[in-house]
Amino acid sequence: MNIERLLDGYRRFRATNFRAARELYERLAADGQSPRALIVTCCDSRVDPAMITDSGPGELFVIRNVANVVPPFTPDGKHHGTSAALEFGVMGLGIGDIIVLGHAQCGGVNALLRGEHAHASTVDFVGTWMALAADARERVIENAPADADRQLLLEYEVVKLSLDNLRSFPWIRERIDDGRVRLHGWHFGIAAGELTTLDADTGEFRLLV
Ligand SMILES: [Zn+2]
Repeated sequence: MNIERLLDGYRRFRATNFRAARELYERLAADGQSPRALIVTCCDSRVDPAMITDSGPGELFVIRNVANVVPPFTPDGKHHGTSAALEFGVMGLGIGDIIVLGHAQCGGVNALLRGEHAHASTVDFVGTWMALAADARERVIENAPADADRQLLLEYEVVKLSLDNLRSFPWIRERIDDGRVRLHGWHFGIAAGELTTLDADTGEFRLLV
């Protein structure tokens, strides 16, 4: 039933949107992609970067993982999916704007906040993955006032941690220094559709609209 819905959706896409944008798709196929921005965001199904930025095919290079965590630069020969995609986007495609897009009610951040083995079904990988953001958790636990929304603060803090880790990649650092790459921190509030953006000067998230 779920799959039938998706296949019906594909048929509608093929008959309407694809038909309307056929030249664009043909051009993208012939010329290759040159996306405007690279977005690191969460796997969460409620956060669709293309939809909330009103972007079309070829415009966004999207990396999704649990809780939009960028790991630190770790060239150890292991399997780093997020780092590989960053390398391809930055070095291969020359993308200049990198956005880390966090979001409200993030399950990965919630697991981190409650302790790494809060979800019995996710002990194999999620806990280890979210441990990458343990420092962000410590900062929130230590500094947040008693009545603060710790979940939200930690969502913000994970975005900042990911931005810091982006700077640990030498080929990103180099491009930031010479002006070819710019970093941006965003947070999407699902219920109200609110986008807040990180002010680099104050370190605060501010409502865009
Ligand atoms: Zn999430």
